Amino acid sequence: MWQVLKKIAHTGIVTEAWPEPALEWRTEAQAIQADLLAILGRSLAIRMVDAGSCNGCELEINALNNPYYNIEGLGIKFVASPRHADMLLVTGPVSRHMEIALQRTYDATPAPKLVVAVGDCGCCGGLFGESYASCGKVSNVIPVDVSVPGCPPSPLDILRGILAAVRLPPPESRPRAAEVGP
Ligand code: SF4
Repeated sequence: MWQVLKKIAHTGIVTEAWPEPALEWRTEAQAIQADLLAILGRSLAIRMVDAGSCNGCELEINALNNPYYNIEGLGIKFVASPRHADMLLVTGPVSRHMEIALQRTYDATPAPKLVVAVGDCGCCGGLFGESYASCGKVSNVIPVDVSVPGCPPSPLDILRGILAAVRLPPPESRPRAAEVGP
Protein backbone atom coordinates (compact mmCIF):
# COMPACT_ATOMS: atom_id res chain seq x y z
CA MET A 1 0.00 0.00 0.00
CA TRP A 2 2.82 2.41 0.88
CA GLN A 3 4.34 1.70 -2.48
CA VAL A 4 1.09 2.68 -4.23
CA LEU A 5 0.82 5.94 -2.22
CA LYS A 6 4.46 6.71 -2.96
CA LYS A 7 3.84 6.14 -6.65
CA ILE A 8 0.78 8.45 -6.57
CA ALA A 9 2.73 11.18 -4.78
CA HIS A 10 5.62 10.81 -7.19
CA THR A 11 3.49 10.83 -10.36
CA GLY A 12 1.21 13.72 -9.37
CA ILE A 13 -1.86 14.72 -11.41
CA VAL A 14 -1.44 13.85 -15.08
CA THR A 15 -4.95 14.58 -16.37
CA GLU A 16 -5.69 17.77 -18.32
CA ALA A 17 -7.08 20.82 -16.58
CA TRP A 18 -10.83 21.48 -16.81
CA PRO A 19 -11.71 23.35 -20.00
CA GLU A 20 -13.11 26.85 -19.64
CA PRO A 21 -16.92 26.98 -19.89
CA ALA A 22 -17.87 27.49 -23.56
CA LEU A 23 -20.25 30.42 -23.16
CA GLU A 24 -20.03 31.38 -26.85
CA TRP A 25 -21.10 27.91 -27.92
CA ARG A 26 -23.95 27.94 -25.40
CA THR A 27 -25.31 31.14 -26.94
CA GLU A 28 -25.00 29.71 -30.46
CA ALA A 29 -26.66 26.47 -29.33
CA GLN A 30 -29.65 28.37 -27.95
CA ALA A 31 -29.99 30.25 -31.26
CA ILE A 32 -29.85 26.94 -33.18
CA GLN A 33 -32.52 25.40 -30.99
CA ALA A 34 -34.76 28.45 -31.44
CA ASP A 35 -34.27 28.33 -35.24
CA LEU A 36 -35.11 24.63 -35.42
CA LEU A 37 -38.28 25.12 -33.45
CA ALA A 38 -39.28 28.16 -35.52
CA ILE A 39 -38.61 26.47 -38.90
CA LEU A 40 -39.50 22.83 -38.27
CA GLY A 41 -41.56 23.04 -35.10
CA ARG A 42 -40.10 19.65 -34.09
CA SER A 43 -36.86 17.68 -34.04
CA LEU A 44 -34.73 16.99 -37.11
CA ALA A 45 -33.99 13.35 -38.00
CA ILE A 46 -30.78 12.63 -39.91
CA ARG A 47 -29.65 9.45 -41.64
CA MET A 48 -25.89 9.45 -42.03
CA VAL A 49 -24.43 7.65 -45.06
CA ASP A 50 -20.74 6.85 -45.44
CA ALA A 51 -20.49 6.48 -49.20
CA GLY A 52 -16.76 5.73 -49.20
CA SER A 53 -14.97 8.11 -46.85
CA CYS A 54 -11.71 7.51 -44.97
CA ASN A 55 -13.72 7.87 -41.71
CA GLY A 56 -12.11 11.21 -40.87
CA CYS A 57 -15.40 13.00 -41.54
CA GLU A 58 -17.28 10.40 -39.45
CA LEU A 59 -15.09 11.18 -36.44
CA GLU A 60 -16.12 14.85 -36.67
CA ILE A 61 -19.79 13.95 -37.15
CA ASN A 62 -19.53 11.60 -34.18
CA ALA A 63 -18.21 14.49 -32.10
CA LEU A 64 -21.54 16.25 -32.60
CA ASN A 65 -23.04 13.67 -30.25
CA ASN A 66 -20.55 14.29 -27.44
CA PRO A 67 -21.51 16.22 -24.29
CA TYR A 68 -19.87 19.41 -25.62
CA TYR A 69 -21.92 19.79 -28.83
CA ASN A 70 -24.81 17.63 -27.60
CA ILE A 71 -26.87 18.02 -30.77
CA GLU A 72 -29.50 15.63 -29.48
CA GLY A 73 -30.16 18.21 -26.79
CA LEU A 74 -30.74 20.73 -29.61
CA GLY A 75 -33.40 18.56 -31.19
CA ILE A 76 -31.25 16.91 -33.89
CA LYS A 77 -30.99 13.13 -33.82
CA PHE A 78 -29.46 10.42 -35.97
CA VAL A 79 -31.80 7.65 -37.08
CA ALA A 80 -31.13 4.14 -38.34
CA SER A 81 -33.45 4.16 -41.34
CA PRO A 82 -33.81 6.62 -44.23
CA ARG A 83 -37.57 6.09 -43.94
CA HIS A 84 -37.48 7.96 -40.63
CA ALA A 85 -35.18 10.73 -41.87
CA ASP A 86 -35.69 14.36 -42.92
CA MET A 87 -32.10 14.72 -44.08
CA LEU A 88 -29.24 12.64 -45.47
CA LEU A 89 -25.73 13.54 -44.31
CA VAL A 90 -23.37 11.99 -46.83
CA THR A 91 -19.58 11.67 -46.58
CA GLY A 92 -16.85 10.48 -48.87
CA PRO A 93 -16.41 10.21 -52.56
CA VAL A 94 -19.13 7.80 -53.63
CA SER A 95 -17.43 4.49 -54.27
CA ARG A 96 -18.81 2.49 -57.20
CA HIS A 97 -19.91 -0.17 -54.71
CA MET A 98 -21.98 2.41 -52.80
CA GLU A 99 -23.56 4.10 -55.83
CA ILE A 100 -26.72 1.99 -55.94
CA ALA A 101 -27.00 1.85 -52.13
CA LEU A 102 -26.83 5.66 -51.93
CA GLN A 103 -29.40 6.06 -54.69
CA ARG A 104 -31.73 3.60 -52.92
CA THR A 105 -31.23 5.38 -49.59
CA TYR A 106 -32.16 8.67 -51.28
CA ASP A 107 -35.24 7.09 -52.88
CA ALA A 108 -36.31 5.61 -49.51
CA THR A 109 -36.16 8.99 -47.73
CA PRO A 110 -39.59 10.62 -47.67
CA ALA A 111 -40.02 13.99 -49.43
CA PRO A 112 -39.40 16.80 -48.75
CA LYS A 113 -35.84 15.63 -48.09
CA LEU A 114 -32.57 17.49 -47.67
CA VAL A 115 -29.07 16.29 -48.57
CA VAL A 116 -25.88 17.67 -47.03
CA ALA A 117 -22.54 16.56 -48.54
CA VAL A 118 -19.81 16.59 -45.89
CA GLY A 119 -16.06 16.99 -46.53
CA ASP A 120 -13.99 17.78 -49.59
CA CYS A 121 -14.56 14.25 -50.87
CA GLY A 122 -18.33 14.62 -50.71
CA CYS A 123 -18.23 18.14 -52.20
CA CYS A 124 -15.84 17.60 -55.12
CA GLY A 125 -14.31 14.12 -54.93
CA GLY A 126 -11.38 15.36 -52.81
CA LEU A 127 -8.23 13.29 -52.81
CA PHE A 128 -9.86 10.40 -54.60
CA GLY A 129 -11.67 12.15 -57.44
CA GLU A 130 -13.36 10.07 -60.13
CA SER A 131 -11.95 6.76 -61.24
CA TYR A 132 -12.88 3.17 -62.04
CA ALA A 133 -13.56 2.77 -58.28
CA SER A 134 -15.06 6.15 -57.43
CA CYS A 135 -18.02 8.17 -58.72
CA GLY A 136 -16.49 11.30 -57.14
CA LYS A 137 -18.67 13.93 -55.49
CA VAL A 138 -22.05 13.07 -53.96
CA SER A 139 -23.93 15.28 -56.43
CA ASN A 140 -22.79 12.94 -59.23
CA VAL A 141 -25.20 10.38 -57.74
CA ILE A 142 -27.98 12.23 -55.87
CA PRO A 143 -29.07 15.91 -55.67
CA VAL A 144 -27.22 17.87 -52.97
CA ASP A 145 -28.69 20.89 -51.17
CA VAL A 146 -25.70 22.04 -49.10
CA SER A 147 -21.97 21.23 -49.30
CA VAL A 148 -19.65 21.49 -46.29
CA PRO A 149 -16.00 21.58 -47.49
CA GLY A 150 -13.00 20.73 -45.31
CA CYS A 151 -10.80 17.69 -44.83
CA PRO A 152 -12.39 17.01 -42.47
CA PRO A 153 -14.74 19.89 -41.64
CA SER A 154 -15.07 20.77 -37.96
CA PRO A 155 -18.17 19.69 -36.01
CA LEU A 156 -19.29 23.33 -35.90
CA ASP A 157 -19.02 23.67 -39.70
CA ILE A 158 -21.02 20.46 -40.13
CA LEU A 159 -23.67 21.79 -37.77
CA ARG A 160 -23.75 25.09 -39.69
CA GLY A 161 -24.23 23.09 -42.90
CA ILE A 162 -27.13 21.17 -41.38
CA LEU A 163 -28.75 24.42 -40.32
CA ALA A 164 -28.11 26.07 -43.69
CA ALA A 165 -30.03 23.19 -45.28
CA VAL A 166 -32.92 23.56 -42.82
CA ARG A 167 -33.09 27.31 -43.57
CA LEU A 168 -33.15 26.82 -47.36
CA PRO A 169 -36.18 28.04 -49.30
CA PRO A 170 -38.24 25.43 -51.20
CA PRO A 171 -36.26 23.65 -54.00
CA GLU A 172 -38.07 25.41 -56.87
CA SER A 173 -36.87 28.86 -55.73
CA ARG A 174 -33.21 27.95 -55.19
CA PRO A 175 -30.53 29.11 -57.66
CA ARG A 176 -27.91 26.46 -56.79
CA ALA A 177 -26.56 24.28 -53.99
CA ALA A 178 -25.28 26.31 -51.03
CA GLU A 179 -21.77 25.93 -49.64
CA VAL A 180 -20.94 26.33 -45.97
CA GLY A 181 -17.50 26.36 -44.43
CA PRO A 182 -14.28 28.19 -43.65
S1 SF4 B 1 -12.81 14.89 -46.80
FE1 SF4 B 1 -10.87 14.26 -45.84
S2 SF4 B 1 -11.49 13.39 -43.86
FE2 SF4 B 1 -13.35 13.47 -45.14
S3 SF4 B 1 -13.46 11.46 -46.16
FE3 SF4 B 1 -12.32 12.83 -47.54
S4 SF4 B 1 -10.14 12.47 -47.04
FE4 SF4 B 1 -11.37 11.68 -45.32
